[in-house]
Amino acid sequence: MTRIVVSGGAGFIGSHLCDTLLSQGHEVIAVDNLFTGTKRNIQHMLSNPNFEFVRHDVTQPILLECEQVYHLACPASPVHYQYNPIKTIKTNVTGTINMLGVAKRTHARFLLASTSEVYGDPLQHPQVETYWGNVNPIGPRSCYDEGKRVAETLTVNYKEQGHVDTRIVRIFNTFGPRMLFNDGRVVSNFIVQALKGEDITVYGEGQQTRSFCYVDDLVRGIMATMNKDGFYGPVNLGNPNEMTIMDLAKRVIELTGSRSKIVKRPLPQDDPTRRQPDITVAKRELGWTPAVDLNEGLTKTIANFEERLRQGESA
Ligand code: NAD
Ligand code: UDP
Repeated sequence: MTRIVVSGGAGFIGSHLCDTLLSQGHEVIAVDNLFTGTKRNIQHMLSNPNFEFVRHDVTQPILLECEQVYHLACPASPVHYQYNPIKTIKTNVTGTINMLGVAKRTHARFLLASTSEVYGDPLQHPQVETYWGNVNPIGPRSCYDEGKRVAETLTVNYKEQGHVDTRIVRIFNTFGPRMLFNDGRVVSNFIVQALKGEDITVYGEGQQTRSFCYVDDLVRGIMATMNKDGFYGPVNLGNPNEMTIMDLAKRVIELTGSRSKIVKRPLPQDDPTRRQPDITVAKRELGWTPAVDLNEGLTKTIANFEERLRQGESA
């Protein structure tokens, strides 16, 4: 049994990670300020004696004893990270320093949840880890993109100067059960709209592309990175199955049997045109490839959203 801190543990990916860690018999401390995370995501874990929830903002220092730190705390949806951009930067900079500090003091292994957004609106396709990216430092997404880029720099510096055993994963668009109804990201928006019979809001012409990974695959990849000795990344984790946003809208309509219409809305500024991970490194170093295809993942996610709507969760 290992004692493991998961910052952002009440969020979408973090709560799935906590579930898997607990199922493997580890002791888990979830640290979260509940900005975009919810108690509902971790409710079922509270009775597990190996689980502890600490309501805490990572921009403040904290003393914890552990052997591993998964640092996921940071709002991930553009809607939420742009709500208070200065706070998003503080979370990525001060928050990352504080969690690296926990790892340094306790000699724990540390993993940073970085993002494909470090590649910005990429000029190289698909994106490989050696690509430096095309990021607007003063645009509406920069609090997140640049914040994560600094978080990566900090992680590498703590490894080299501070001798912390760190890892970086660059997560590409991930979806699954427990995403907030008002998360604002495309998969949750489309599913809620389809289930409620509302218009499906495609931004721009819908010709921009993304590659969607199911959360169980992602969690497996994150854990494989944490537990591989002598491998530090950065490593892309995502599903290379690229598609247009218009095709995603059609797929969600098909799978929900919805009568919703597709409507076009303005494309947000600096919205990346194409995104697809090159996962050669993950395959080679971790033996990792995604196993859940889009239809299967969407079907499971739609079932979860339907169930939550039935239980009266407001959308
Ligand atoms: P999420 O918003 O559901 O989870 C983030 C969690 O961090 C939430 O529980 C939130 O309350 C918590 N948090 C935010 N600021 C905090 C602070 N200052 N102190 C303590 N807790 C704080 O998002 P997610 O999709 O689960 O993303 C988890 C991580 O993965 C994030 O770091 C995100 O940048 C990264 N990521 C996610 C995706 C994706 O597609 N889901 C893609 C790339 C990177
Ligand atoms: N998008 C959309 N309709 C929505 C929400 C998002 O067309 O209701 C588009 C958005 O403009 C982007 C893509 O879907 O091109 C993915 O957006 P998301 O916010 O999920 O993630 P990110 O842009 O960070 O990859």
